[in-house]
Amino acid sequence: GSTIGIVGGGQLGRMLAMAAAQLGYRCHIYAPEDAPIAAEVAARVTRGAYDDAEALARFGAEVDVATYEFENIAAGPLSALTGKVALHPPAAALEVAQDRLSEKNFVAGLGGRPAPFAAVDDRAGLDAALAGIGAPAILKTRRFGYDGKGQARIMAAADADAAWDAVRGAPSVLEGFVRFDAEFSILLCRGTDGQAVVWDAPRNVHTNGILDTSEAPATGIAPETIAEGAALARKVADALDYVGVIALEFFATADGAVFNEMAPRVHNSGHWTIEGARTSQFENHIRAICGLPLGDTSLSAQRVTMRNLIGTDAGDWPTLLADPRAHLHLYGKRQARPGRKMGHVTWLAD
Ligand code: ATP
Ligand code: MG
Ligand code: MG
Repeated sequence: GSTIGIVGGGQLGRMLAMAAAQLGYRCHIYAPEDAPIAAEVAARVTRGAYDDAEALARFGAEVDVATYEFENIAAGPLSALTGKVALHPPAAALEVAQDRLSEKNFVAGLGGRPAPFAAVDDRAGLDAALAGIGAPAILKTRRFGYDGKGQARIMAAADADAAWDAVRGAPSVLEGFVRFDAEFSILLCRGTDGQAVVWDAPRNVHTNGILDTSEAPATGIAPETIAEGAALARKVADALDYVGVIALEFFATADGAVFNEMAPRVHNSGHWTIEGARTSQFENHIRAICGLPLGDTSLSAQRVTMRNLIGTDAGDWPTLLADPRAHLHLYGKRQARPGRKMGHVTWLAD
């Protein structure tokens, strides 16, 4: 079988490597850590920094196709990799999605509707943006944010100083606070032939900016709102000539689907597909990047619920293991830290 290169060594890479192994592929992980958790289930690991063009080029020369599970790889070093091997999803997707401002502009250009937003480059720019958008609003760094990190809520103009401190003066975007009824995501997988499949959209609940639960099918969200999100995901994937899984996060509002953000990779809100769908997001991503036909995405149970195991509250394992409907996943991280994703559980119910 051929070798799939995965840039990034976290739990997403680990679950991708497990799906790849099932289909007879070997995986070669590229990551900066001493002992990336993805490497435990892969054939090989190359230790390298995400900005090390030479190491990325060597890695690219050793694999048959490359993908990534980590989004913050700069365009320059990444082109050293794409000079050696096909990269799926394309580098363009990564470039758009690693900057909230370019992502919102790109999606708005395709007819998507983000919350009102404005670029903030300095303290005076924050006042100007606040004057335009009004409070409440959320200030988010353009780059590197995840799990609600690099964000500050502004309930009133008086919070602006604290918010600017919280983002440490980094280039940011201010967005209007969305009064949503629910959150959901669209998980779409597009193949090399341009065919695309979507899974049932999960309804997602975030606590302190971190995904807590995903439930499929989504209840309490108008089907038209979900269809609107799915149509946008299809447009985004086609516009990027995308190959692999892409995730778009939305707010469901009385006004329809408001775009939050996207991730050019497999996504936490799709972990339920491992047991809850006929083909998981991980398997379809591997199929797509290897040029294989995509698998059926339909639900394998009437209701599927995924809950993240976060920080030191890593769940009551004996109870979970005794529950025949529960599927426990532990990522093998050595150290539990507050807010860190340690594993997840998926329940199937009929
Ligand atoms: P991740 O990439 O891990 O999903 P992130 O750090 O990029 O997280 P966001 O998705 O931007 O964070 O925000 C996290 C959560 O905060 C959202 O899922 C939502 O619950 C809330 N949130 C973010 N932006 C807004 C907004 N404009 N209005 C209302 N709630 C928001
Ligand atoms: Mg994000
Ligand atoms: Mg998010």
